[in-house]
Amino acid sequence: MHSEKKELTFFDKQKETIPTEELKRLQLAKLKETVTFVADTSALYRKKKKLLKNDAKFHSFDDFSAKIPFTTKEDLLKSEIYENLCVDKKDIIEVHFSSGTSARPVHSFLTKKDIREANAYLARTWYMQGIRAESTFGMLASYGLFSAGLLNHYAIQEIGAFVVPIGGSSPLKILDIFRNFSVDSCAAVASYYPYLIAVAKENAIRLDGLGIHSIIAGGEPFSEDERCYIEKEFGATMYSQYGLCEINTGLAGECGEKNGLHILADYAYPEIVNAATGESLAENEEGELVLTTLHKEASPLLRYRTGDITSITYEPCRCGRTMPRIAPIKRRVTDVLFYKGVKIEKEYVAKLLADLKKYVNAYIWQMEVNSLGGRDEVLLKVVFEKEGEKNSDHIGESLRNSLGFKLKIRAFTMEELNQLGNSKLKNFVDKRKIST
Ligand SMILES: [Zn+2]
Repeated sequence: MHSEKKELTFFDKQKETIPTEELKRLQLAKLKETVTFVADTSALYRKKKKLLKNDAKFHSFDDFSAKIPFTTKEDLLKSEIYENLCVDKKDIIEVHFSSGTSARPVHSFLTKKDIREANAYLARTWYMQGIRAESTFGMLASYGLFSAGLLNHYAIQEIGAFVVPIGGSSPLKILDIFRNFSVDSCAAVASYYPYLIAVAKENAIRLDGLGIHSIIAGGEPFSEDERCYIEKEFGATMYSQYGLCEINTGLAGECGEKNGLHILADYAYPEIVNAATGESLAENEEGELVLTTLHKEASPLLRYRTGDITSITYEPCRCGRTMPRIAPIKRRVTDVLFYKGVKIEKEYVAKLLADLKKYVNAYIWQMEVNSLGGRDEVLLKVVFEKEGEKNSDHIGESLRNSLGFKLKIRAFTMEELNQLGNSKLKNFVDKRKIST
């Protein structure tokens, strides 16, 4: 009845609507294949994890979880650079790094086959979010050390879309390119959009006049309020995505139903475990997402602990896809600042600013602690709304009452907004001297 519409909905209908039982059979077969391959080829798994080919003799997912040890970020960071490599070095054609905050980024190698396969799977996520062969897509993520730009670039090209690589440019340049090239869809980390909106407003540019229909946000959690704000300003639909360099970017994404993120469970096998005990959890129970790659040959990973807290459901989605959905990722590690013995959480400051949204933009802020002449001082940088600046005393008073300490408030300068670039927004900056 809706066949014509349905055909347009999917990039790979057969894979996206595979019956759950069939998906599970496929996952189990692929898990066995992966464990055998890794036990055979990976120094990391063979030597450090003591993995044997025999370990691939499991008959159920429970059996797999019981037999196969977790892999952690620590394991990767402690390994030699090529220790997790499962193919000849000459077969690698690319390496990608994580955008994590640890001293050394974790990396993932890719062969030609890895990239080809990843593209075919990941393109589904982008297609689901409105990208088509005729799209002109603005990639605002970085193309440097972090993997978001390049990996996604290939997957979007797989659809046939025209990708404009503008990651790392200043907001004004980005807005210029949007206009000049008629960009109709784009991707960035979630906190970048409020900046783009602020710069557009400052320069009297109407974003909803640009003709952008799909806005894709990854890398960070965002609130529904924030989504509404960004969608209204752009006159577009905003979709969430999830991914990590170690497995792949674009690994999960929202469909038009915006009711959880469809995870490419035929590309990586997802489990949810109790973060403290490591025990496997059932559908809909909240815990840490653990992933096993099913198609990577250069750097496969078994039961990789992502550190991301979510839950999973295999309930059918109204969009027709059978890929399970994960709940939007909650914060990894709570973003906190300690000041005068008070623990200040990001969510709390965001809530206080949301109550003051008549005066300040609730989504762009940075709290900085400085040591000035031996005394610590807190500075809050904000973007004022029309009536905001002249009410800054009132804002300061209100925040002081809630936070329990005095703070200075000033507007971000244009230069600061520009410099923020396309990085994940750091809400807390601690410039105090570290005393030991
Ligand atoms: Zn769906």
